[in-house]
Amino acid sequence: MTRNSPKILIIGGGFGGLFTALDLNGSGEITLVNAEDHFLFKPMLYEYLSGEVEAWHIAPDCKELLNDKVRFIRGAVTDVDLDARSVTVAGRAEPVSYDVLVVAPGAVTNYAGVPGAEQFALPFRALNDANRLRRRMTEALDHVQPDAAPQDTRSALTFAVVGGGASGVELSTKMADLLRDAVKRRALRGEPRVLIVEMADRLVPGMGEEIRKFVEAALGECRIEVHTETRVVRVTENTITLEHSQQQTELETAAVVWVAGVRVSPLAESLKVEKDRRGLILVERTLQTREYPNVFALGDVAFYPDVVPTLAGTAQLALQESGLCARNVRAFIEGKDLKTKRFVELGEAVSLGTEHAAVLSAGKVIGGPLARQARFAMYTARLPTWHHRLRVGASWFFEGTSPRPLQPLGF
Ligand SMILES: Cc1cc2nc3c(=O)[nH]c(=O)nc-3n(C[C@H](O)[C@H](O)[C@H](O)COP(=O)(O)OP(=O)(O)OC[C@H]3O[C@@H](n4cnc5c(N)ncnc54)[C@H](O)[C@@H]3O)c2cc1C
Repeated sequence: MTRNSPKILIIGGGFGGLFTALDLNGSGEITLVNAEDHFLFKPMLYEYLSGEVEAWHIAPDCKELLNDKVRFIRGAVTDVDLDARSVTVAGRAEPVSYDVLVVAPGAVTNYAGVPGAEQFALPFRALNDANRLRRRMTEALDHVQPDAAPQDTRSALTFAVVGGGASGVELSTKMADLLRDAVKRRALRGEPRVLIVEMADRLVPGMGEEIRKFVEAALGECRIEVHTETRVVRVTENTITLEHSQQQTELETAAVVWVAGVRVSPLAESLKVEKDRRGLILVERTLQTREYPNVFALGDVAFYPDVVPTLAGTAQLALQESGLCARNVRAFIEGKDLKTKRFVELGEAVSLGTEHAAVLSAGKVIGGPLARQARFAMYTARLPTWHHRLRVGASWFFEGTSPRPLQPLGF
């Protein structure tokens, strides 16, 4: 690179993009383009749903996190011209040019072509998704008459969570605790009904046996109805149709939440670089794309060679890659040798309802309320910037992290 102050353009302000921008710390003229005005610490979206944390804790404003060495553009990149070295941002007349490009737009919900799923099921990836789901739970509760029979309460409060990975477990246990608490507070008779629907023969297949014990106990305590080897055939505004052993059953639901998988960002689909059959950008061990050495990709859009399957598509991986990416972008600019890295598993932490969690760290598993505290501590340390970590840590320590009950709307 010959330019004195090369232009580095980063697409995506998530775990991959934001942390790369922070790590670059002013090496070059850096621009970060993000579709939202905030970063989102997705692993705590469940706690935001339950009101254990507030939006500012887990979704700080990008501009507040980035210092004046990074220019921030809020907007969605709609096109990338890799040969002209420029990107188009929705709503901006002029393309933004670059010398080095970092591609990190993440993933989107994959509805797998199930009829009605995209239209009627709720995704769970953004703050607004959690807001909508919380509102849907409150509305369903508000519709239950104070003298309703237990079976009517159960029917009005039937929620289906599709996808039996960690997300499905964390979300369903959180929802069940919130709903049960609200039923009690409103002195209703009966119980909510929360289902997990999973195609495979068991939940959280990638999870180790020790931590699984806590997961299974929590599912039992929260009285989650687990439907394995079950396929979703159809979703409508207020029903879900399931198929198990070639038998179809239609259930009335207050909401269906879809956490059954992701697919690569539509932006990556349009990039003319080599990809695997799932559409993931194939990167070298330096995170460079194969065709364009000045284009790097990381996080949920990229396939890095030899990464253990349980790390793929995780914040843990995107975070570790961001350090390598920043270092290699700097080396590329300075004409130095680029490095590679072996990414490691940093442990597992699963939220299990509003009072419990399970944490696997350094080969040891703990569960219960202590693990919930440990999870909060672990995640405080992984939030972006020291300043934000300190503010959030102090807020959780002094103000607490109790859930916010589902109050009647307009309360
Ligand atoms: C509910 C939930 C819980 C999770 N829990 C965990 C967990 O406990 N542990 C774990 O390791 N992983 C977890 N993950 C996965 C983890 O969040 C992702 O793997 C990680 O966020 C990937 O980082 P990324 O930078 O690739 O994408 P993201 O963090 O998703 O960031 C992508 C950013 O790009 C922006 N963007 C998208 N398209 C464009 C565009 N065209 N132009 C501009 N900006 C764009 C998006 O708005 C977003 O800000 C969870 C995911 C979800 C949804």
